[in-house]
Amino acid sequence: MMYYTHLAFGFLIALLSIEFFDIKNKLIFILVVVMFSIFPDIDEKKSKIGKKYRWASTIINYIFGHRGFFHSIYIPLALYFIFYYINNEIGVAILAGYFSHLFMDALTKNGIRPLYPIINKKINGFIKTNSILEKILFLIIFLSILYSLLLIYL
Ligand SMILES: [Zn+2]
Repeated sequence: MMYYTHLAFGFLIALLSIEFFDIKNKLIFILVVVMFSIFPDIDEKKSKIGKKYRWASTIINYIFGHRGFFHSIYIPLALYFIFYYINNEIGVAILAGYFSHLFMDALTKNGIRPLYPIINKKINGFIKTNSILEKILFLIIFLSILYSLLLIYL
């Protein structure tokens, strides 16, 4: 998926989570969710975030490859348990953002291996990154954001 589809879906998940979990620090919560909705692609040098943090991206890509360990559930779960004790809302935000990324990548043809490297099983969908189908999905997410904002603030 393109970074803007991840950002949009992360934002939608943040809005829904705020209502569902009754989040107090709404702005920080949204920022952390949105940040982690694109973070996993640090393992790809050509991604938006990879270009921004080139040195980190180069090292992570060299060691773990793209859509390997950084696209598994272990990192978000570890971060969640660490941050939950510091600030439970940050913990939830990291988990929500990271999992929103994994969910969206699981819809793509290339898919993800959520339990890699312990279990190599891949889950994938049928959406090609940057295809017309992804753009339609982006539009649906965008409209859902508008709809959620209307429901919450009107
Ligand atoms: Zn990704």
